[in-house]
Amino acid sequence: MNDVLPTESATWQFLEEKFQSVVSSYSYNEIRTPIVESTELFNRSIGEVTDIIEKEMYCFEDRNAERLAMRPEGTASIVRAGIEHGLLFNQTQRMWYRGPMFRYEKPQKGRYRQFHQIGVETFGMGGADIDAEVIMLSVSLWRSLGILDSLTLELNSLGSNEARENYRSALVDYLSQRKDQLDEDSQKRLTTNPLRILDSKEQSTQALLNNAPNLIDYLDDDAATHFAELRSILDAAGISYVVNPRLVRGLDYYNKTVFEWTTSKLGAQGTVCAGGRYDGMVKQLGGKPTPGVGFAMGEERLLLLLETLQVIPEQLGQSIDLYIAAESKGIQQDVILVAEKIRAEYPELRLRTHCSGLKNVLNKARQSGAEKIVLLKKDDEQLLATYWHGEQVEQNLTIDKMIALLA
Ligand code: ATP
Ligand code: MG
Repeated sequence: MNDVLPTESATWQFLEEKFQSVVSSYSYNEIRTPIVESTELFNRSIGEVTDIIEKEMYCFEDRNAERLAMRPEGTASIVRAGIEHGLLFNQTQRMWYRGPMFRYEKPQKGRYRQFHQIGVETFGMGGADIDAEVIMLSVSLWRSLGILDSLTLELNSLGSNEARENYRSALVDYLSQRKDQLDEDSQKRLTTNPLRILDSKEQSTQALLNNAPNLIDYLDDDAATHFAELRSILDAAGISYVVNPRLVRGLDYYNKTVFEWTTSKLGAQGTVCAGGRYDGMVKQLGGKPTPGVGFAMGEERLLLLLETLQVIPEQLGQSIDLYIAAESKGIQQDVILVAEKIRAEYPELRLRTHCSGLKNVLNKARQSGAEKIVLLKKDDEQLLATYWHGEQVEQNLTIDKMIALLA
């Protein structure tokens, strides 16, 4: 779990502000849910036989022996909140969220135990148009960050639960006959979660899969039409993608559309954004059947990518515009009060007061990088200012005159 230091936080804010302005242009509204939920919520939605539930969740009992978990992802909580507050039934919703998620994984580049996701979830819309909108919203973010060219959209359809069930048995049939050629992990998954074998990283397993039955051939008519519609909207919008028939996602709740945005620039942790449709989840968690579609992106991976591609603007909000200090004794109170007056006049100005003694104040002011420096002194009971603007200096200014010059 990492600290984000003051020198780093500006790039986080840069990313988050870009995201906020994109979601606002699509009129999505923010939802904030607690970091802790009942463990049961995640067990029921994410699926018992997934990495998250089997080995990644931080669970504990509270003083009342209730089983709680630090949220490993956002969707389940948002569905829970939507049901609890009556936001879902017979309505449409478009929401976004951001915040920390927790998974007990082996920490490495792009993979942390506390990481941050920003994402969107939409409810009450079952058509391919909203799938397209959600994907296009992500495209807008990549465009505004200047990283679209470095990302690939991978797309697949999982079909209905029934279609997936049929496909699952066909896949198990095929792989069972060749069990000895499977890697150890995949052999285990054959009985627990066979679809996950599709994204095995083992070369030999991948080779075996080349001739395996294809998920696309098992799609039900409804899902096939939905997928064709989605592709046609994306084509019309000029958004390129590759259909990856082996894309299944690690969470059980998806149906129909699934997608990932991947990059080759981050090594093994190349997925920066992932999402899809989860029409069964609201009902599964106790609500009336309501379709849903959304995505989540990992902020840390996006920041790594922004750094790698060197697209972060320099001078991100850390700079100081004006530094104000006392150059004579006994007027520190005046420094504070004059600073407040300046802030009231120029709210955009980043103003720092000097609160650490009288020694070398001008040097310290220069070291701060501030373009403007004001030093105060008291002369015959009158408060006077010296004002540096770059190399130019004006002395013995009244406070009002100095404030006027700052414009
Ligand atoms: P992966 O295959 O990399 O483990 P995942 O399928 O578990 O990813 P999701 O649950 O779909 O990931 O989460 C969406 C996004 O959140 C991922 O694409 C990734 O960018 C980010 N993410 C997931 N787990 C981590 C982590 N431990 N540290 C940092 N980012 C993460
Ligand atoms: Mg994972």
